[in-house]
Amino acid sequence: ELCAWACPADAIYVEGADNTEDARFSPGERYGSVYQINYLRCILCGLCIEACPTRALTMTNEFKLGDTTREKMIYTKERLLAPLLPGMEAPPHPRRLGNDEKTYFLGLPKTGTPDTRTPSAQEAR
Ligand code: SF4
Repeated sequence: ELCAWACPADAIYVEGADNTEDARFSPGERYGSVYQINYLRCILCGLCIEACPTRALTMTNEFKLGDTTREKMIYTKERLLAPLLPGMEAPPHPRRLGNDEKTYFLGLPKTGTPDTRTPSAQEAR
């Protein structure tokens, strides 16, 4: 819920819930059972992206935001989730870029250099 706390426009609404062994939606202890972004409020500042420790958020090239009702401008989790593309692994799965903060955040390759730390990249070698 760090994204919601970071948002200066109060555009994000999150209800967290606990993962269990029978119902697991993410590798961590908790997941967002309800997640909404109100694009009537969002100023596209990107602070939610900066705040996210798991890189769950990103900007897109969709810059023409508009619709016929105010309700349609509140995007739910189902509408916000990007589809899995061919070759992508369905969640939940463990973190792939390092299991601790140091390797996850500081072990990134230089810009333009392939990331060879993921299992799929190592298999492709
Ligand atoms: S980009 Fe939008 S949702 Fe994200 S922190 Fe800024 S105002 Fe809030």
